[in-house]
Amino acid sequence: MYINSFMGYNYWLEVQVKSKMKAMVLKNICDLTRNKTPLELVEMPEPVPGHREILVKVSCCGVCHTELDEIEGRTPPPRFPIILGHQVVGRVVKSGSGARNFKIGDRVGVAWIFSACGSCKFCRGGKENLCVDFKATGRDAHGGYAEYMTVPEDFAYLIPGEFSDSQAAPLLCAGAIGYRSLSLTTMNDGDNLGLTGFGASAHLVLKLAKHIFPNSKIFVFARSEKERAFARELGAAWVGDTSESAPRKLHSIIDTTPVWMPVVEAMKNLESGGRLVINAIRKESIDKEYLLDLDYPAHLWLEKEIKSVANVTRSDVSEFLPLAAEIPIIPEVQEYALAEANQALLEIKEKKIRGAKVLKIN
Ligand SMILES: [Zn+2]
Ligand SMILES: [Zn+2]
Repeated sequence: MYINSFMGYNYWLEVQVKSKMKAMVLKNICDLTRNKTPLELVEMPEPVPGHREILVKVSCCGVCHTELDEIEGRTPPPRFPIILGHQVVGRVVKSGSGARNFKIGDRVGVAWIFSACGSCKFCRGGKENLCVDFKATGRDAHGGYAEYMTVPEDFAYLIPGEFSDSQAAPLLCAGAIGYRSLSLTTMNDGDNLGLTGFGASAHLVLKLAKHIFPNSKIFVFARSEKERAFARELGAAWVGDTSESAPRKLHSIIDTTPVWMPVVEAMKNLESGGRLVINAIRKESIDKEYLLDLDYPAHLWLEKEIKSVANVTRSDVSEFLPLAAEIPIIPEVQEYALAEANQALLEIKEKKIRGAKVLKIN
């Protein structure tokens, strides 16, 4: 592709040889316990950036629990085949017409928010995460499990130099959503914070919370001894099993688990007026009957509340990245090849997690 400039107009002429790229695609919803290879490695045409879009040569893409929710149909993509992946780090290789935010070669990130309408009351009020036309990267639009992707330029972010490509990837989802979750607790320095579940997002939140709220104590509830040891290593004041009672009442708790038991168990640990923030796009149904144990006086009375975290806004991402660089929060990552995406997803399903999983693509 090259540019012809004439009388102030730019004409983009398409070279007729379409470039191909490799991608891991999902062709249908499936049950991961039966089909252990839901994604297929295919060759497909390299995408072409549209108006005000950029083409990104993907370097790395994080692997997230949300991909399991997409594959298993709890938050299904509207169209197939679809390229998953919403923690994308790469370099700008082409700008579409009217795209001016980035230079060729800039290192950018793409997060879960792929686009929003920009004009509804939620978008105008800084809550574009709630926009009815919210589009998610790797669900409603092709994501980063591929050699290339396109994205509206207003939904890409420069990556601070402190991070390697693979270190930056998990910050774009787990980090940004963790930052949003922490904001939604409305806690102040000195308030006790609980974290139930201790995966990729929670370990970033622990580091973030220790920095923003140096006088707060952090209590971690996790079901495996390995996760509890990791939390202790990172400076948790107390660690215990998911159903234990913390030694103190907590101002707020962030739940990052995919199930219901931790929700009920967390409520008893909240102080009066305390808030449980659920950072999970969907809950699995396997232990839903646990909700019948919800006891009004023990779990909800005295103005305790539950709030979910939906998606992220661009400001969550753009505020969090420099903060992560300043602290610094350098995620522990485990790298996989693009073709090993199924294995990485299966390990998340089987809870074989320490740090964050990242596909190394280019
Ligand atoms: Zn994610
Ligand atoms: Zn909107």
